Amino acid sequence: MPEGHTIHRLAQDYAARFLGTAPRVTSPQGKFSDAAALLDGTALTATEAHGKHLFLGFRDADWVHIHLGLFGKVGFGDAPAPPPTDTVRLRLAGGTSYVDLRGPTTCALITDAEKRAVHDRLGPDPLRADADPGTAYRRVSRSRTTIAALLMDQKVVAGVGNVYRAEVLFRHGIDPYRAGRDITPAEWEAMWADLAGLMREGVRNNRIDTVRPEHTPEAMGRPPRVDDHGGEVYVYRRANLPCHLCGDEIRTAGLAARNLFWCPRCQNR
Ligand SMILES: [Zn+2]
Repeated sequence: MPEGHTIHRLAQDYAARFLGTAPRVTSPQGKFSDAAALLDGTALTATEAHGKHLFLGFRDADWVHIHLGLFGKVGFGDAPAPPPTDTVRLRLAGGTSYVDLRGPTTCALITDAEKRAVHDRLGPDPLRADADPGTAYRRVSRSRTTIAALLMDQKVVAGVGNVYRAEVLFRHGIDPYRAGRDITPAEWEAMWADLAGLMREGVRNNRIDTVRPEHTPEAMGRPPRVDDHGGEVYVYRRANLPCHLCGDEIRTAGLAARNLFWCPRCQNR
């Protein structure tokens, strides 16, 4: 499942190629054909992300709501677009570019009011200018649930996935099993600011890097990480490997339906 930085990057990439243009809109697969016919040749006027939800705005009134889920994929290319395969749910094609969406969990034409309802269901997103970390903290500070589970709950914080939750907890030395209500306002503020910074860098680089300059492979004289997620991290998918800080083994356990990774010695707060 992509994390929020990927969706924000997609919003930027759709905008860079199509904002202010009136692309051909089609659904070669057929599942979005009626909506595509309504949007075909109308102007793309906005793109937006909130957590793992992507919104494409047409003629200031209609929104395409996209959630990639586990299997959704977006692929951009230069014009002319090749003939689409029948797995393409939504294609935008313009004079210079095309983009294909395949396999999303959601691809629906919605109204402004329906879009607001999606926002209302989601917690604040560290990548959005309108995000209020206090809204998230009110939920966190009332909860007996572990902070590791709360960080993955999209109603609490939108856009954080398995990699960022593990890494931000490590960077702040916080035991992932601590209850939300034991997280102090100062700890939350620091974690939020750190998440926002890390995720912004994730949007820029289109990958997740979380190690501080002094812990890069070059700085430490260690080999770079080999993992299809790319990026340098402290604990994510590093079970049984030595911690970059203390040398102890990184541990793993299931938490909130995903594998959690942490260093018991470094994360003792
Ligand atoms: Zn450690």
